[in-house]
Amino acid sequence: MGEMNPVKGMRDYLGEDMRLLRRIEETFLGVASLYGYEEIETPILESVELFRRGAGEGTDIVRKEMYELTDKGGRPLALRPELTAGIMRAIMTGKLHSLPDMPLRLSYFGPAFRYERPQLGRLREFHQFGVEAVGADSPALDAETIALLMTGFRLLGFQGLRILVNSLGDKESRDSYREALRDYYRPHLGEMCEDCQERFRLNPLRMLDCKVEGDKALAKGAPSLQDYLGEKSRARFEETLKILDGLGIPYEIDPGLVRGLDYYSETVFEVHLLSPSGKDYGALGGGGHYGGLLKELGGPDLPGVGFAIGAERVLALMKELGLGEEEAGAIEVAILPVGEDSLPYAQEVSYLVRGMGFSAETPLRAGKLSAQFRRAERKGARIALLLGEEEKEGRKVRLKDLRSEEQEDVPLSELEERLDRIFEEEEEHGHED
Ligand code: AMP
Repeated sequence: MGEMNPVKGMRDYLGEDMRLLRRIEETFLGVASLYGYEEIETPILESVELFRRGAGEGTDIVRKEMYELTDKGGRPLALRPELTAGIMRAIMTGKLHSLPDMPLRLSYFGPAFRYERPQLGRLREFHQFGVEAVGADSPALDAETIALLMTGFRLLGFQGLRILVNSLGDKESRDSYREALRDYYRPHLGEMCEDCQERFRLNPLRMLDCKVEGDKALAKGAPSLQDYLGEKSRARFEETLKILDGLGIPYEIDPGLVRGLDYYSETVFEVHLLSPSGKDYGALGGGGHYGGLLKELGGPDLPGVGFAIGAERVLALMKELGLGEEEAGAIEVAILPVGEDSLPYAQEVSYLVRGMGFSAETPLRAGKLSAQFRRAERKGARIALLLGEEEKEGRKVRLKDLRSEEQEDVPLSELEERLDRIFEEEEEHGHED
């Protein structure tokens, strides 16, 4: 059999990358819970129809990038290209919209799949963290999601993020803007890319987002959505910005920001960060307010706001910024059998130590003590427990603090208390730094 490779555009996570991916997940889910968001997990496979109606027929992710398949029962299914549609479906399935306390605040982390050309910052399987707040329409809720996102990045150690915001206005604002865009693009349509020809028909707002050079230049001269905002939308946007000002969150208004999905209205936003090496990973995340999404899917007419962050882009930047240095696969307590005969006792102690809540490896061989000490150091152990005949007979351990080099005998019955004390002091010491 030939060499087995992962599917194109998909990757393995191990070592530092796996630890960072987990840290990103735990940090953002933890922050979401600080903001009162509850975690939700939905299936990776859903009906093709859900995404067609959810993300919008005219979007790239549905038109070109969806992994579609038919199961053995002939059902047309797709690997989710984003998680919002599935969550809206779950809200309807669980009738969560009839709960007394609105808005629903939900958070998620999980894989998404898009059949895109793999390149920097673009994979075919990637992970998204995100939130959805559904069932209330308030500038304060829009601002809350942006604040949540900022808190998450802050706790991961990021600084200097750029938050781009824009207002897409309500339906009336967008309808009149769409016509203005069509008038602007009509004379140039012949020179534009094939996708833009179709966007012209389906949703000309998306033409502003085109990555083709000539089309990008054209977009610069296009009329600005800001000039077509109705009075209500303008007031709503200003209120949102005022709240952000009040929180001290810096932002830039980007009139060209339209976002890729059809369901957005009013406030939209994106997070960017220039990488120190000048690499462009694209937006770290983005989102915004949506009006008729649930209704579009056959549910109640409830507004919402949400965003999604791509974990792989965050991970790549953390490594570049040196935010990623983590202790390698650290264990806390090294178990060192002195001679083959003490191996069973050493294994028993390793079992007990983990029951006390400390990480330790099961020793498989006795081997030379010097080699065992070196391994303990490589694994980042703070404490070594030396276990020979004498320790076994006396049901005790010889505890060596690998930092202070001090040694002492500790009866097994007192070991948990002793380890607790050592690691508590270490934690306090860590906080002082
Ligand atoms: P979107 O739903 O397209 O706005 O995506 C939200 C976030 O997911 C983006 O800002 C990226 O960080 C991430 N993302 C989207 N597509 C990909 C991809 N193909 N590979 C890696 N990350 C992605």
